[in-house]
Amino acid sequence: MREPFLVINKKLRIVSANNSFYTTFKVSEKETIGQTLSNLGNNQWNIPKLIHLLKKILPKKMVVTNYEVDHEFKSIGRKTMNLNARQILIPNNVARLITRADKDNDEEFILLAIEDITERKQLEKEKDTSNNRYHSLFSESRDAIMTLEPPTWRFTDGNPATLKMFKAKNQAEFLACEPWRLSPKRQPDGRLSSEKAKEMIGIAMKKGSNFFEWVHKRLNGEEFFANVRLSRVERGKNSFLHAEVRDISENKKIENERKESEELFKNIFNEAGDGILLAEIKSKKFYMANKTMSLMLGYSLEEISHLGVSDIHPKKNLPYVISQFRKQAKGEIDLARNIPIKKKNGSIFYADIRTTIVKIEKKPYLMGFFHDITEHRKLEQALEDIREAKEKTILSSIGDGLMACDINGKITLFNNVLAELSGFPSKEAIGKHYQQVISLVIEETNKPAQDFITQTIKEGKTNSISNHTMIIKKDGTRIAVTYRSSPIFDKYSKNNGCVVIFRDFSDERKIDRAKTEFVSLASHQLRTPLTSINWIIEQFSNKNYGEITPKQENALKTLSASSHHMTDLVNTLLKVSLIDLGTFAIKPISTDISTLANEVLSDLSMEAKMKKLKFLKRFQAISKIKADPVIIRIIWQNLISNAIHYSPSGGKIKIGIIKHKKDLLLSVTDEGIGIPEKEHDNIFNKLYRASNAEKNDTGGSGLGLYIIKSILDNSGGKIWFNSNKNKGTTFYVTIPLSGMTSK
Ligand code: ADP
Repeated sequence: MREPFLVINKKLRIVSANNSFYTTFKVSEKETIGQTLSNLGNNQWNIPKLIHLLKKILPKKMVVTNYEVDHEFKSIGRKTMNLNARQILIPNNVARLITRADKDNDEEFILLAIEDITERKQLEKEKDTSNNRYHSLFSESRDAIMTLEPPTWRFTDGNPATLKMFKAKNQAEFLACEPWRLSPKRQPDGRLSSEKAKEMIGIAMKKGSNFFEWVHKRLNGEEFFANVRLSRVERGKNSFLHAEVRDISENKKIENERKESEELFKNIFNEAGDGILLAEIKSKKFYMANKTMSLMLGYSLEEISHLGVSDIHPKKNLPYVISQFRKQAKGEIDLARNIPIKKKNGSIFYADIRTTIVKIEKKPYLMGFFHDITEHRKLEQALEDIREAKEKTILSSIGDGLMACDINGKITLFNNVLAELSGFPSKEAIGKHYQQVISLVIEETNKPAQDFITQTIKEGKTNSISNHTMIIKKDGTRIAVTYRSSPIFDKYSKNNGCVVIFRDFSDERKIDRAKTEFVSLASHQLRTPLTSINWIIEQFSNKNYGEITPKQENALKTLSASSHHMTDLVNTLLKVSLIDLGTFAIKPISTDISTLANEVLSDLSMEAKMKKLKFLKRFQAISKIKADPVIIRIIWQNLISNAIHYSPSGGKIKIGIIKHKKDLLLSVTDEGIGIPEKEHDNIFNKLYRASNAEKNDTGGSGLGLYIIKSILDNSGGKIWFNSNKNKGTTFYVTIPLSGMTSK
C-alpha cells in the first residue's frame, strides 16, 4: 500500500506497520511494533480524537471512513490525516503469522489506513481564499468587469459595476444586450466600432491581453470615454475574454479643461509683445521661452533651451545681473531696470525685466517678462545729447577756465580757456587725473598749494582761493589764478564729482603790485620830510628858537601829536607794502618776550590811566627765545593798544605769557565791546574794521591785525581770538619755542 498502514490489536498495541508508515512519520520498526498507540514516538500519537475513534466509534460501527484528524507532530510538524479504519477478526493461524502471537483463539484487529492530506487541504484552502478574493473583487470593484465568450463574443457575466456603468436594470438586461449596443457606431478615429472591436479582441486573444481607449455607450444613449483591458482566460481547451472597463469621462473632462487652459496660456505666452523667459532658479538654466523672446535674442527656441542666464548678458555686467536675478528669485524685487542683454550676434540691447516666481512640478522657476527699452533709451540719449551740446556751447564760450572731474578726480570736461591757462590741450587733459594736469603753488614760496579740489570731490564742499596761488603751465611758467571748486550732485543728491572755475589773475595781480610798490615808495619818501618836521617841532618845543607863550606851547603839542600820528601811519603803510611785496624781513635774535611786554605796558600806561583801566600781568618765567624784537614789540603794541582802545573806561586788561610744550602762548584779554560774530572771519583782512568799532572810534586803520597775521603766517606763528559782543575779547598769539623762522 502506498499510504501508511497499521494493524493494531484490541489493546491498541501496534501489531504491524508498513514501510510507508515508517517513512512518513519518521519512526523505525523497532520503536513501533509492540508499542501502544498512545506511547508511540514519545507519546506523539496520543491523539484524543484518534483514541476516541478506535475505542468508541469503531467497536460499534466496525468500519469508519474518511475520518479527518489534524495533529501537530513534534518531528514532522502539522499534519492533516484522513483515516479509514476497519475492525476485523483474523483466524488464529493467520494472526500468528502476522503478529507472531502464539495464542490459539481467533483475534480481533483494527486495520488503520492513514492518508496524509495536509498538502491537499492546504491547496483547497488557498483555492477557496483566491476564489473569495476574486469574487469580492468582482462584485465590489468600481471598474466594470465582464466576460465575453467566443465565437459570438456576447457577454456571459458582468459585475454590479458593469450594470451601473452601462445603466442596465439587472444582469439579465445586460446579458441580453448585443455588444454593439454598448458602443457608438464609430470610434473617434472614424472607424466602425464593430470592426475595431473585432480587431481589439483578436489582439487580446493572440497576445494574452490588450489595453486601449474606447468610446462606450450606455443603454440610455449617453457616450463616455473608457480605458479597456481585455485579458485572455484559459479554461481547459477553450479560452474566453475577461474585460475590465474604467469610465474615464471625468478624467477626460479634467484633461480637456487642462488642455484648454494650457492652450490659452500657450497663446498668451507666444503672442505676448514682451519676451517671456523661464529660468530654473537654482541652475539659472532656461526652461522655456516664447517666440518674442527668441526674436529678441536671435536664438531659436531650441537653442535657448540649452542656454542659461550667464549666456545672454555681457560678461562685465554679469555680477550685477545675477545679483538682480537673486533678488527677484527671493521675491525682494519684481522689476530689474535697464538690464543689458547680449544677442546671438553679439549686439546689445536693454530691457526692463519684470518677474514672477512659478512652480512647475514642484520646482521653482523665475518667469521674466522682457520689455525692450532700447528705443526709449535712444530717445533719452538723444535728449541727453541735445542737453550736452547746449551745455558744451555754453561752457566753451565762457571766459573763465573750466574743468569738470568725476568722483575719482578724472577730468571729464576741459574748456579752451583752461587749455590756454594750463598749456594742456583739452584732448590731452580729458581722461587724465586732474593732478596730472593742474599744478597749483603758493606764489611766495612756490610750494604746492592746499588741494581744495580733492576736498570738494570727497566732502562735497565748495571752496575758493582768491590770492597767492599760481598755476604752473605745461612749459613751467607761472600764472596767478583764483579758482572756485563746486561739487556736482547727481539726481539722487549723491556727490558725483566737481566743477572748477579758474580765473587768470595775473593782470589784477600786476595792478595790485604796482599799487603796493607805489605805496611803498610814497611812504618811504614821506618819512624823510616827516622826520624834519618832527625835529623842528621838537626844537620849538624845547625853546631852542626862543621863548614861547603858553598858547604857542599848546599849539605845538597838538602839532607834535598829529605829526607823530602821521609818522606812525606812514610807517605802518610802509610795513604793509613790504609785506605785500614779500620783502618784509624777519631778523630773529635772542629776545626776552616779557621785557618787551613791560616796555609796551609802560608806554601805554598813561592812556590806560586816563581810561581807568588796570593791567593784570601773568607772566611765566621763561628764558629768551629767538624772535624779531621789532615784530614782538609790534604785536604787544597792537594787541594791548586795541584792548585799551575798544574798552569802556573802568575795567581790567589781562596780559599773559604761558610756556607750552612747543610754543609760547601770548594773550591779551579785555572786557570791551567785543567783535560781532558774523564779522569774525574778516577781522584779519587788510583795512577791515568791525562795524561796532567804526561807530565808536574813527581813529583806527584796520591794518594792525593784518600786519601781525601776515608776519606770523610767514614766521611759524599763529594768531586767533575769542570774542563776545559787549563782553570782551581775548587775542592769542603763539610763537614756536624753536624760534621764529625768517623767509
Ligand atoms: P584798528 O586800527 O582798526 O584797531 P586792527 O587791525 O588793529 O585795526 O583791528 C582791526 C579791527 O578789529 C578793529 O577795527 C576792531 O573792529 C577789531 N578789534 C581789534 N581788537 C579788538 C578788541 N580788543 N576789541 C574789539 N574789537 C577789536
